Amino acid sequence: MLIDTHCHLLDPVFDADRAAVVARARAAGVAHAVVMAENEAENHRVLAAARLDGFVLPAAGHYPACLDLEMAARTEAFIREHRAELAAVGEVGVDHRITEDPADHAVQDAILRRLAAVAAELDLPLSVHSRAAGRHAIEVLRSTAAARVVMHAFDGRYGAAVSGLDAGYYFSVPPSIVRSRQKQKLVKQLPLDRLLLESDAPVLGPDPAARNEPANLRVAAEAIAGLKRRSLDEVLGAIVENTRRVFSR
Ligand SMILES: [Zn+2]
Repeated sequence: MLIDTHCHLLDPVFDADRAAVVARARAAGVAHAVVMAENEAENHRVLAAARLDGFVLPAAGHYPACLDLEMAARTEAFIREHRAELAAVGEVGVDHRITEDPADHAVQDAILRRLAAVAAELDLPLSVHSRAAGRHAIEVLRSTAAARVVMHAFDGRYGAAVSGLDAGYYFSVPPSIVRSRQKQKLVKQLPLDRLLLESDAPVLGPDPAARNEPANLRVAAEAIAGLKRRSLDEVLGAIVENTRRVFSR
C-alpha cells in the first residue's frame, strides 16, 4: 500500500466530497496521506481530522508565506506537545517567488531552521517547500541536524539537488510530472531509492485545470516507471520501501 507523503486534504475544495476522495484513494492502493498544515489553525484541524479518520497522518507546519516568528514558535510548541501523534513536520520551507525581499528571505530561513531543528530533535520527517529556492533550501537544511528530509515538488535542476542527495534527503514526486519537462529531467537523474510519491492535492495534478486528489499517485508512479525504464511493480516496490525508511510506516 502506498502513502501520499504530502497533501492538503482539508482544503475547502474537498469539503463537499472528502469521503469519496478518500474512498477513491484507498481503491487506488493509497492507504494514507500525510496531511500538511500551513499555520497554527491548520495544525489543530489536521490533528483533529487524524483522530477521526485513520487515513490522515497528521503533520504540523508553517508555510513560508507567513513571516510571523511568534506563530512559528507556537507551532514548535505544538509539535513538542503532540509529538506522539504527529507523522511529520510540514509544510515548511522557503519561497523566493512569494517575496523577493532579502529581509523576508532571512525570516523564512530562521523559521525553517527552527522547525528543522525541532524535527531533528524529535526524530520526525520534514516535508519541505522550496519554490525558486531549491539550492538555497538545501543549504539551510544542511546547517541543521535534520536527517529525514523530503524535498517536495522540487523545482530545481539535478545540479541543485545533488547536495541534498549527499545529505541523504528524499524527493517526493507529484502527478504534475506528466506535464513538467523540469520534473521529468530531474527524476530521470535522481536515484530510485530516493524517490517518494506525493499528490500535493488539490494542486499539481496531471491536468492543471482539474482538482488533484491522492488517487492520482498512480499517475506519478507510472511516469517514474516510464522515465526510468523500470516496471511499475519495481517502482512501486522501491517507493514503498523508501516511504517506510523515511516515515517508519
Ligand atoms: Zn503543499
